[in-house]
Amino acid sequence: DAGGYIADVNPAFSRITGYRRDEVIGRSPKMLSSGHQDAAFYARMWQSLRDTGAWRGEIWNRNKAGEVYPELLSIAAVKDTQGLISHYIGSFSDITHLKEREVQLDRLAHYDPLTSLPNRRLLSDRLRQALAHTRRAGKILAVCLVDLDNFKPINDQHGHAAGDQVLVETAQRLRDCVRDKDTVARIGGDEFVLLLQDLEWVEECDSVLSRLLQRLTQPIRLAEGAEVAVSASIGLTLFPQDGVEAEVLLRHADQALYQAKQAGRNRYRLFDVAHDRLVQAHHRLIDDLALALAKNQFVLHYQPKVDMATGQVLGVEALLRWRHPERGLLLPAEFLYALSHSELEIPLGEWVLEAALQQLERWQAEGLQLSVSINLAPRHLLQADFPARLAESLARHPQVPAASLELELLESSALADLEQAARAIKACQALGVRVALDDFGAGYASLAYFKSLPVAVLKIDQAFTRDMHEDAEDCNIVEGVIKIAAAFGREVIAEGVETIEQGILLLHLGCRLAQGYVIARPMPADSLARWLEQWSVDSAWKNMASLRLQREDLPLVLLETLHRSWVKQLIAVIEAEPGELAPPPQRHACRFGQWLQGPGSSRHGQSEGFGLIQALHEQMHELAEQLLAEHSQEPQRARSGIAKIRALQEQLNEAIYSLIATLMY
Ligand code: C2E
Ligand code: CA
Ligand code: CA
Repeated sequence: DAGGYIADVNPAFSRITGYRRDEVIGRSPKMLSSGHQDAAFYARMWQSLRDTGAWRGEIWNRNKAGEVYPELLSIAAVKDTQGLISHYIGSFSDITHLKEREVQLDRLAHYDPLTSLPNRRLLSDRLRQALAHTRRAGKILAVCLVDLDNFKPINDQHGHAAGDQVLVETAQRLRDCVRDKDTVARIGGDEFVLLLQDLEWVEECDSVLSRLLQRLTQPIRLAEGAEVAVSASIGLTLFPQDGVEAEVLLRHADQALYQAKQAGRNRYRLFDVAHDRLVQAHHRLIDDLALALAKNQFVLHYQPKVDMATGQVLGVEALLRWRHPERGLLLPAEFLYALSHSELEIPLGEWVLEAALQQLERWQAEGLQLSVSINLAPRHLLQADFPARLAESLARHPQVPAASLELELLESSALADLEQAARAIKACQALGVRVALDDFGAGYASLAYFKSLPVAVLKIDQAFTRDMHEDAEDCNIVEGVIKIAAAFGREVIAEGVETIEQGILLLHLGCRLAQGYVIARPMPADSLARWLEQWSVDSAWKNMASLRLQREDLPLVLLETLHRSWVKQLIAVIEAEPGELAPPPQRHACRFGQWLQGPGSSRHGQSEGFGLIQALHEQMHELAEQLLAEHSQEPQRARSGIAKIRALQEQLNEAIYSLIATLMY
């Protein structure tokens, strides 16, 4: 009625609530209340009835037996002819079965029916919550992917029921081994995920996982009676150490799982964050390089190659540089490693070839006759269409003779198919392009290569050039390479020549061609003309070409060079203001003097010219001392003595070469 009391009910009311009609007439519907809804709920309900004349919703009520059940209730206000509320009519149905279905559906949607573990969907909720919690708590979360090692054979041999039993048992064991707050989920066939929360330190999950692996390998008795055993592999990653999003954490755990499997199963592996960062950086670098190529940020620098005996400049090697917009000019060592095995290696190689040909064309037009060698990735050479494309490139630059292009080929495992490599090299040389084997001696199976590959030139690896002086073995290798090259009629060139002494030794060993910092550093193309103008070969190298000396007598040639730079330093000091430059070593510290007294006198002490050298060397030091003393008082007067130094140096040089002449064979 309008006062909210029950005026009448139908038989269905009695069936649902259990109350007879006479038990409820005149009473308030409150008698059905379960207490599940609060006062505010009912206030809103009445408000709606007054305002709109209707209400509809779900409500929990209690039946006569005291059981709480859900009902779907609609109430409508009935008005009389004056428009005043005369009655309310409520109709409801028991929706217990619908509610049950809902719960069931929820379970189906979030739990694995076989093991009752959370499924993938619920796992991703839990993982997100765990991440938020871990961030707040400042602890560590381990995300572990568990995969049974030998589950399929059990399914195959014992049937699916047995397989199911193993999965259920595994689920139970996993749950047993972790704490209540941890999550165990099943995300597919025999794959489970553990979320271990609130770890204090990284090692903490070691004990959990070891225990778990051990527990999982315990045999399982099947319903049919047989006993089976499984093991598991686990990949895990730690948050926040691995500071990525939820899905990526699972992917990383999966990568670690793969490694655990690779390493022989029945073990766990932690995802290697540092290694992954490197891999990521690697991918980023490749992307950057692709962009750099598109934006034309690469440039070639050129390093001269010369004949040390004549000073003739034979050509230049093109060396790649990256004009990085932020980091400046980058050397290949900073980016090239990312290229090998990447798709970009070939297009970049093509760019180098084209850039070198354009440069050759420009130099041709300026009247500069130079050859240019480019470094070619073996994989590039081995592209089936490389010779054809090379021919096309040359055809695009008809002014450039093919003979002025040289390809430097790094010996590497990529050349393992020697026959194929030899065919490609022959095809290039048929076009008139020379091929050199780079870094010879450093790579693998050098000799095998050399014999099978029809290259025209061998480049001695700079590691050997560098250590030739200190390391007798390196010296022997260099000598060996030079002899092999001579025996097979190949040209040989040494790279990385940094001192005049190295050049002398190379000349002595029979290698005339060289490239290195002591001759010139790699330079931009437009600096080359100026360099060519001022370049002259060191006199010691020139002299060496006509000398036939024994190795033991080489120090004499070296001394002449050493002495020359000493004199240069002395003159610089005297030409400068007093105290501006440090003077070169005197008497006892002088390397020349030390050699004269030691190894020099024991080898050459009997020779006629040796005494003269000693005397002149002595005079030189006396003169130096005198001029240096004078320089600190009257620099101008000391400077007039420079001519004397030069004259004495000439005399000393002559004395050295006269002695050398007596030693030639
Ligand atoms: P590489 O072919 O052995 O080139 C010689 C390297 O030694 C160059 O380094 C050069 O600057 C350096 N060098 C020259 N003289 C001396 C010296 O007296 N002392 C020392 N310590 N080093 C000297 P760069 O330019 O950094 O190139 C490094 C490597 O990168 C090259 O070694 C080559 O293998 C590769 N590379 C350079 N440009 C290209 C290119 O266009 N394509 C390919 N595929 N590789 C290239
Ligand atoms: Ca090279
Ligand atoms: Ca090299």
